[in-house]
Amino acid sequence: MEKVIVLRFGEIYLKGKNRFSFEKQLLDNIKFALKGIKFNLNRMHGRYLIENIADDDVFDIESRVKKVFGLHSYSLALKLPTDLDVLKKGCLSFLPQSGSFRFTVNRADKKYPLNSQQIAMELGAAALSYNPKLKVDLFSPEKEIFVDVREEGHTFIFADKVLCAGGMPVGCSGKGIVLLSGGIDSPVAAYRMAKRGMKMMGVHFHSFPYTSPMAKQKVVDLAKILSSYQGGFDLFVVSFTEIQRQIHEKCPEEYMITIMRRIMMRIAERLAKQYGCGSITTGESLAQVASQTQESILVTNETVQTLPVFRPLIGMDKEEIIATAREIGTFDKSIEPYEDCCTVFLPKYPVIKPKPDLVRSAEAALDVESLVADALSDVEVIKL
Ligand code: ATP
Ligand code: MG
Repeated sequence: MEKVIVLRFGEIYLKGKNRFSFEKQLLDNIKFALKGIKFNLNRMHGRYLIENIADDDVFDIESRVKKVFGLHSYSLALKLPTDLDVLKKGCLSFLPQSGSFRFTVNRADKKYPLNSQQIAMELGAAALSYNPKLKVDLFSPEKEIFVDVREEGHTFIFADKVLCAGGMPVGCSGKGIVLLSGGIDSPVAAYRMAKRGMKMMGVHFHSFPYTSPMAKQKVVDLAKILSSYQGGFDLFVVSFTEIQRQIHEKCPEEYMITIMRRIMMRIAERLAKQYGCGSITTGESLAQVASQTQESILVTNETVQTLPVFRPLIGMDKEEIIATAREIGTFDKSIEPYEDCCTVFLPKYPVIKPKPDLVRSAEAALDVESLVADALSDVEVIKL
């Protein structure tokens, strides 16, 4: 009896003519996610099948495929020769301890002498003689056991469908850059874009020595978690110290955060262009803080000339964001208590509804172009 894993695609079914390129991307991503493990991957009947796996690797494979975007669900299955006695034995391990069940048989092998209903009846009878307390319920069984009789002389039996991450295969929607802080929100924003098929890179601004190396390490650790969902993650670490110092020195205090955001965006846009990204993503959510009002977002956006800015969390409550952060495994890391650069020289009363012309004239005290160029001249690239 060989253990195999049946994988089902998600939304790529909807993609019409493009479907083949989506499928190819998904296959590449599955193979990448399973790097280091021995297996064969075959397409079967609108699904994929992971075969020839060592028993010891099954758990590892399960936990990795759950994270591959574009997969809808998987099932652990048994692959057996199509021999009724063997199937009768094989199906026992899928039976519940009590309650009702049904066998749902699909017979692709039309040469097999029994039809699907007859096979289901044979297996049902075997199950009942093994455990007479069980009941067959064809309409709403507590457990449905699927038996797929293939043409090549073997049959797959599986029961539970475990949900995978869903979404679109990473790579199908191009590349994007996320402004990645060490907070709760931006890793969730990155996750949501990756889930829509975008391969994310990240830019993090740190203010060493005002922020500690631990604060940077925290972001590296978050990027590592994100990399497990998309097969790698490139993180650009940019020093913001001089920029922050100059804003603090030369600009009105209440505009500090607004101007910081504008400069972060300009740097992100340049990096995006340099590395082939088609968009910028942030973890902003409407009204969460002063820099996340319509007016603040307007003055932040006006610094980005050539790319769309995505804010996938804009309409989400903090509680909803936290629930996702927990689900994807970033929450515990995000709440580690290290200072972010935004908390250095924090103004007491940041402007909530900045006026574009006032922001522009406040910012005119800086040589923005050379600050941006200096910051970009010393970018640390960390590949995870
Ligand atoms: P987060 O939890 O993502 O830090 P937040 O609620 O703390 O978000 P802000 O501090 O206002 O909100 O940041 C808004 C967004 O700006 C962040 O989601 C992130 O995309 C970006 N950002 C903030 N600080 C940094 C930083 N140091 N480096 C890179 N991006 C940052
Ligand atoms: Mg933050």
